[in-house]
Amino acid sequence: MVLSRAATGSEENVCSTFGSRYVRTALPKYEIGESSIPKEAAYQIIKDELMLDGNPRLNLASFVTTWMEPECDKLIMESINKNYVDMDEYPVTTELQNRCVNMIARLFNAPLGETETAMGVGTVGSSEAIMLAGLAFKRNWQNKRKAEGKPYDKPNIVTGANVQVCWEKFARYFEVELKEVKLSEGYYVMDPDKAAEMVDENTICVAAILGSTLNGEFEDVKRLNDLLVKKNEETGWNTPIHVDAASGGFIAPFIYPELEWDFRLPLVKSINVSGHKYGLVYAGIGWVVWRTQQDLPDELIFHINYLGADQPTFTLNFSKGSSQIIAQYYQLIRLGFEGYKNVMENCRENMVVLREGIEKTERFNIVSKEVGVPLVAFSLKDHSFHNEFEISEMLRRFGWIVPAYTMPADAQHITVLRVVIREDFSRTLAERLVADIVKVLHELDTLPSKISRKMGAEDFGNMKGKKVERDILMEVIVGWRKFVKERKKMNGVC
Ligand SMILES: *Cc1c(COP(=O)(O)O)cnc(C)c1O
Repeated sequence: MVLSRAATGSEENVCSTFGSRYVRTALPKYEIGESSIPKEAAYQIIKDELMLDGNPRLNLASFVTTWMEPECDKLIMESINKNYVDMDEYPVTTELQNRCVNMIARLFNAPLGETETAMGVGTVGSSEAIMLAGLAFKRNWQNKRKAEGKPYDKPNIVTGANVQVCWEKFARYFEVELKEVKLSEGYYVMDPDKAAEMVDENTICVAAILGSTLNGEFEDVKRLNDLLVKKNEETGWNTPIHVDAASGGFIAPFIYPELEWDFRLPLVKSINVSGHKYGLVYAGIGWVVWRTQQDLPDELIFHINYLGADQPTFTLNFSKGSSQIIAQYYQLIRLGFEGYKNVMENCRENMVVLREGIEKTERFNIVSKEVGVPLVAFSLKDHSFHNEFEISEMLRRFGWIVPAYTMPADAQHITVLRVVIREDFSRTLAERLVADIVKVLHELDTLPSKISRKMGAEDFGNMKGKKVERDILMEVIVGWRKFVKERKKMNGVC
């Protein structure tokens, strides 16, 4: 007797996942399904669909960590079920966070006695850290204005136009006017002189960036500090500084120890850093530290008592995972100063290899700096036939994810490609990338220009020689930029 498959009634037990009906039926997409499916099938199907995501290790757009040691992966998996907010239940995790805060504050030269505890907190990333720091500045400023009997309804914050989007979010969510110092061609960070000029009595703080997202350059915090010290003396406003060291906070202390950008400067009252960038932890951890207790107004802190000690909490979210905090503590003790220094030096050296390879093609201008976050930002010297967006797209075919984007105001006419060098980007990969860029350039040279093809398709017929080539070129470039800008809203460089 031959049994039909259905008649056995145990298809799931007999068939392999790929022999089961789950790989041929449509799975629920936008509404929860009626019935359950076997765990093996659910795993396989989701895993397979995820194959179409880019490879994180080849995602050169991001500063965020994509590799950690297997021992730390293990610790992360072992703590994946711990809610950080349950401080009573998980006092050791809370203690590890406090140790990280103290280590980081001292790394940034907070003026702390040997037994003094630092003021700071672990966050989901630099964005949350910046919201908290910004709120502290806003509240301090309001309290001061109230005490002086002055209006306190028009706070503003001064930054460069190169700030990361989280500052725009802070400004909009917490109703603070964002006053941006414009950039110019060849100068892509906040000019401290212009920033100091922009400061007025309603300025809650000036935010400087250690490691501009666009080209990795460190802003001149020391000069900003000196200018503001002078201005504060003249006006009595006491305008403080926040340093957004999201990417540079774990670089400068190790390889540029002489650079004064942190709490060594008296007006720097708070600093944020992304643990998940050069802190070398996977996505989901940031830190904010304050210079002293007075810099964080007490009314923003919620106090929880546990085990007889006072646990101040100051975060936007309540629940979150513990594993990133544990992973940060792992990296700090595992690597120590020596380990972080070695990693950062390697990143810098691989950056140099990549930069020299790109320079050797003689086709690009380098827009990033020698000192800064280890990345190479570069733009084409000649745009007559092809542009950076085409290069970015063609590199994708080799597996590389290299973003192209335009600079903010007033340097919008400059487009750059940017490669971030992370810990796991070795010299071998750097050399391969250069070889692939060269291949792309050769291929582009043999291809008809998209620019002239566009001209033929769209404009040539009815144009009758009215437009000069230059105008058309501009049109195409503007079109591309618009395209990328719109795309950026969804998956911007980070
Ligand atoms: C990445 C970055 C941020 C945002 O940090 P997240 O940790 O991703 O929230 C803010 N500022 C700068 C300068 C950055 O590079």
